[in-house]
Amino acid sequence: MPWESPILSASATIASPETSLSRRFPGSQLRICSLRVTEALAVDLPKDTIKYSSKLVSIEEEAAGFLKLLHLADGTILKTKVLIGCDGVNSVVAKWLGLKKPSLSGRNATRGIVTYNDGHGFDNKFMWFFSKGLRFGVMPCNSNTVYWFATWCPSKQEEEIEENPTKLKEHILSKLGKVPDQARAVVEDTQVDAFVSLPLRYRRPWELVCNNFSRGNVSIAGDALHSMTPDLGQGGCSALEDGVILARCLAEAMSRNPNGEVEDKEEYKRIEKGLEKYAKERRWRSIKLIIASYVVGSIQESKGKVMNYLRDNILADSLVGVLMKISDFDCGTLG
Ligand SMILES: Cc1cc2nc3c(=O)[nH]c(=O)nc-3n(C[C@H](O)[C@H](O)[C@H](O)COP(=O)(O)OP(=O)(O)OC[C@H]3O[C@@H](n4cnc5c(N)ncnc54)[C@H](O)[C@@H]3O)c2cc1C
Repeated sequence: MPWESPILSASATIASPETSLSRRFPGSQLRICSLRVTEALAVDLPKDTIKYSSKLVSIEEEAAGFLKLLHLADGTILKTKVLIGCDGVNSVVAKWLGLKKPSLSGRNATRGIVTYNDGHGFDNKFMWFFSKGLRFGVMPCNSNTVYWFATWCPSKQEEEIEENPTKLKEHILSKLGKVPDQARAVVEDTQVDAFVSLPLRYRRPWELVCNNFSRGNVSIAGDALHSMTPDLGQGGCSALEDGVILARCLAEAMSRNPNGEVEDKEEYKRIEKGLEKYAKERRWRSIKLIIASYVVGSIQESKGKVMNYLRDNILADSLVGVLMKISDFDCGTLG
């Protein structure tokens, strides 16, 4: 049976799930397994196109200025006509372009995966719960494996908990509130060494208003460009949008005249224009996603009584609407 992905959203400050996305948006698909995506993207490329384990350390301009020289940690130097940094929140390429490291949001994300050999028994739904200061999601990946995440704001005293997996597990369990026992059990059943926790970072939106994120034949994509809090579940999806738009802009720029070779300088200029076009198309989409994720996360994870009341009784449906509307983006075709 194909896995459809309706979503269930609920508040853990109240006893039962209140808002069902699946009722409003039947058949919505919001899950992708990142490993499968990587495999699917790589499979059509000619052999050896991808060079793994290549840690970029620094970037140098070639004397003529048309190529970039990439210095890798193992001493290798790669020459490239185009450099797109998809190197995440600590992007070396974003730094080279003059952007700051994404800021700490003051929130943490703790994640885990648990496998039930005899099946997990969940319906095929994304379950989502909010309690005081914690947002908790449970997603069946297939009939045996369940992925869960919790985002929360550590107080000064709680910052050390992250270093101690046993305490971290106790802490998450203590903050879950009134979630159903079956959902609580996925955290209980996760081995402590399978807990992954990290502080959440986001790029300050005005950085993208004030700075160019394409310079010559260099630009960035994915988290390197628009790292955001995970509250809309759009970080990875928007990296794919970047990929489609980038491919289109570069294909236009690099297509050759039917009658022959193109001068290096002319090609460089075309690439530069292509990347400028890409940056123009992605700037406001990125800014919008970063802001919307931040605002939605702040409301969902609020510790304030008034905000929690508004969230559970008035804003729940609007938040769901924002999530669905913003993820419904048509980035066009590759051709
Ligand atoms: C709790 C949580 C839940 C999330 N849920 C969702 C969701 O439901 N849906 C969604 O779409 N997104 C989600 N995201 C966001 C998503 O995980 C990221 O946006 C996505 O992984 C970004 O992909 P990326 O390739 O840009 O960066 P990354 O996944 O960070 O990959 C960067 C790559 O660059 C490599 N690298 C780093 N530095 C260098 C270097 N110097 N040289 C060479 N390589 C380097 C790294 O090894 C890594 O392989 C979530 C994030 C979190 C934290």
